[in-house]
Amino acid sequence: MCECKECYSTDNRATPLLNKEDCLKSHTQYICSTCGRCICIAKDDKRGLQRWNFPFKSLDIAKLYLRTADVTTRTSCGIYEIVNDKGRKSYKIFQSKADVDAYLQQHKDRSSTGKPLYQKEVYKDFEGIQIRMLNEEEIKEYLNSSKE
Ligand SMILES: [Zn+2]
Ligand SMILES: [Zn+2]
Repeated sequence: MCECKECYSTDNRATPLLNKEDCLKSHTQYICSTCGRCICIAKDDKRGLQRWNFPFKSLDIAKLYLRTADVTTRTSCGIYEIVNDKGRKSYKIFQSKADVDAYLQQHKDRSSTGKPLYQKEVYKDFEGIQIRMLNEEEIKEYLNSSKE
């Protein structure tokens, strides 16, 4: 399968990654109008952060959430590699280079080349995007079609 032009994933059931059912039941989802993939876009209660605000273990996983960052900020965000002082790598989505710099200012033990590893050239809107909770029937269907 080739990469979805809207949500950048090659697997239209790749997300949610963990606790699929829980996430679909209790979190607002971005529903890709092109491939139907659901991406968690809920804000956490405490800090108002969304999943894409947090670091990811790999570039591939970050890519699965990039679309929710793009839609939220209405820009083409970039995925940056962040290395801590122990050499551990993580991948974080930022709206701009200025945001990367501000983050590194606050986290002196981390560094980054400041060059995005992945980023769309321009932000694209798509008709028929839905950002909402799924109903029970939709959750069942989504989970059934995710198997294998
Ligand atoms: Zn979720
Ligand atoms: Zn898609």
